[in-house]
Amino acid sequence: MKIGVLALQGAFIEHIAILHQLGVEAIPLRLPQQFDGLDGLIIPGGESTSIGKLMQDYDLVSKIESLGKNGLPIFGTCAGMILIASHISDSDIKPLGLMDITVRRNAFGRQQESFEAELSVLVVGEKPFPGVFIRAPVIEEANGKVEILAKLNNGTGVAAREGKILVSAFHPELTHDLRFHRYFLDII
Ligand code: GLN
Repeated sequence: MKIGVLALQGAFIEHIAILHQLGVEAIPLRLPQQFDGLDGLIIPGGESTSIGKLMQDYDLVSKIESLGKNGLPIFGTCAGMILIASHISDSDIKPLGLMDITVRRNAFGRQQESFEAELSVLVVGEKPFPGVFIRAPVIEEANGKVEILAKLNNGTGVAAREGKILVSAFHPELTHDLRFHRYFLDII
């Protein structure tokens, strides 16, 4: 199994390290021709405006869009979730539209820009998952076949799946808990 991790900006090294711990081949991707022959793709956290702009500069937007629409499993964390969404309520960036959700960037007030929360994510098991939120987005609206996988105590959606597309507002790659990545491998 070969998984590509978009390596334009942000926390891609951490995703690669987790995939290696799970015994999976993982490669950093920057050029359109590197996207052939993948079993899955991860779009990491970072700054969605920068990643979005670099995706355009490197000619990757239509490539990723068509791979996702043709069934390639894709996992987006934080900025990656923002880019996968179909709408962003507070930004002019045009997202990839691979999951029918509306997200809000930087959804937590200043004092809470970064925090950790124990999340119930039943698809990865009964034990709570350590959610690491860093200037995180939230899912404001989910339509169609989107399944919300995790919520904060106030009911806000912070992880979701639609078909083979998976997103989390938090950063599983910054924890020692491998279960979210393992779940993505199960989807693949
Ligand atoms: N706030 C960032 C954005 O808008 C996302 C932060 C993150 O990926 N940790 O893109």
